[in-house]
Amino acid sequence: MLRFCGEFARQIASIHRSIGKHFMTASDPEQPQADVRMRGFARRTTVEAAVAWLDAQLPPLAELPTEIVGLSEAAGRVLAGDISSSVEIPSFARSMMDGFALRGEDTYGATSYNRLTFRIVGECLPGRPFAGVVAPGEAVRIMTGAPLPAGADAVLPVEHTEIDGPTMLALDQVSAAKHVGRPGEDVRAGEIVAATGRVLRPQDVGLLSSIGCSRVPVIRRPQVRLVITGNELLPAGTPPCGPLIADANGPMLAALAARDGGAVIFGELVPDDRDAIRAALLADADVVLASGGSSVGQEDYVPKLLAEMGELAVHGVAMRPSSPMGMGGIGQKLVFLLPGNPVSCLCGYDFFAGRAIRVLAGRSKDWPYRRIRVRLARKLVSTVGRVDYARVQIRGDEAEPLAIGGASILSSTTRADGFVVVPADSEGYPPGAEVDVFLYS
Ligand code: AMP
Ligand code: MG
Repeated sequence: MLRFCGEFARQIASIHRSIGKHFMTASDPEQPQADVRMRGFARRTTVEAAVAWLDAQLPPLAELPTEIVGLSEAAGRVLAGDISSSVEIPSFARSMMDGFALRGEDTYGATSYNRLTFRIVGECLPGRPFAGVVAPGEAVRIMTGAPLPAGADAVLPVEHTEIDGPTMLALDQVSAAKHVGRPGEDVRAGEIVAATGRVLRPQDVGLLSSIGCSRVPVIRRPQVRLVITGNELLPAGTPPCGPLIADANGPMLAALAARDGGAVIFGELVPDDRDAIRAALLADADVVLASGGSSVGQEDYVPKLLAEMGELAVHGVAMRPSSPMGMGGIGQKLVFLLPGNPVSCLCGYDFFAGRAIRVLAGRSKDWPYRRIRVRLARKLVSTVGRVDYARVQIRGDEAEPLAIGGASILSSTTRADGFVVVPADSEGYPPGAEVDVFLYS
């Protein structure tokens, strides 16, 4: 995925020029600081520059690897080629009602006061056509979905008939073609029924089946490996015990990556140990989501290891939460260093990793969150120079910023209905200001 790996410095310089802001941090302005442990970030990359770097690593849809899957696995996958129909649907004229197939003109003048008589000459069921030809004054009992017999051109619904032994009495008239499904009215032969790039819905899978398509080319799901680090972590779902806490980020990231089209690989938790982290970062994947140890603490080995084994392109982003996040790559693999604090982890995923996984899965890079425009119930404070990811609750037609906003308070994101992104050049908004809220669901 790091298509421009060799040209990395040139690219950073060009991002730097195009955005007109200082991009990188350390003494060499074109490289991130490889080891900021216990020193802190001198300067942070802007969100825009970090996104620009990321987007430059992501291949276009036409270059993504593909695979063929059966229909039972196709829903939710992204189509990698146009599918056109070689047949018409329906492929024969079919009845749309239960009733009688007959010649429409024979019914002219029929009313409940002027019943016209037809001789019932046979029956026609779905998959069981009537072999004969319907002659004037004749009718064939027909069910919905059955092929219209030769000679007939309309269906008189059963509600407008009465039966008298071998005779049907028509109580109403029908014109030719009435209640008859025309061949090709659903799908025409040669028509594209699903185009490249479409995220297949259940109804697409149904339509593909109707045209006789049993296997489809789709974009291969990117393999997303979770590298969840921290000596303090217990496996997901374990009650906290003394100083040990259960892994919240693993299950959260697994769900996010799956939502965005990734195939998640989630093995053992990884201790804060250089060798263990190195091995986990090197394991097979298209994308690595590393959680924890991304910052400037004593045990934060991950950025240094990434810089040693590949590229640490971005480290420290001017945003809150998730400012200690990093990005880079090892060979073709994209690596995201997500802070351990769960809200930071979610935010870093939302801003960067999710975008990459969606693109690699053939989906839109945009957030899969619905956006609504509402007024703020209270003022929303932010700091100039960083992007804020502010959680809000929707109360009626207003957005209420949540008071508890710390990066460690994951329940702030479960109590919230969504979030507001406050741009870096803003000090926040006064009460009553209109804002865009991205809804979590
Ligand atoms: P770190 O980014 O490793 O410095 O961790 C920052 C904070 O997040 C610490 O309080 C960690 O205990 C916590 N943390 C790290 N990883 C996880 C995780 N997977 N689930 C929940 N909390 C975590
Ligand atoms: Mg840690």
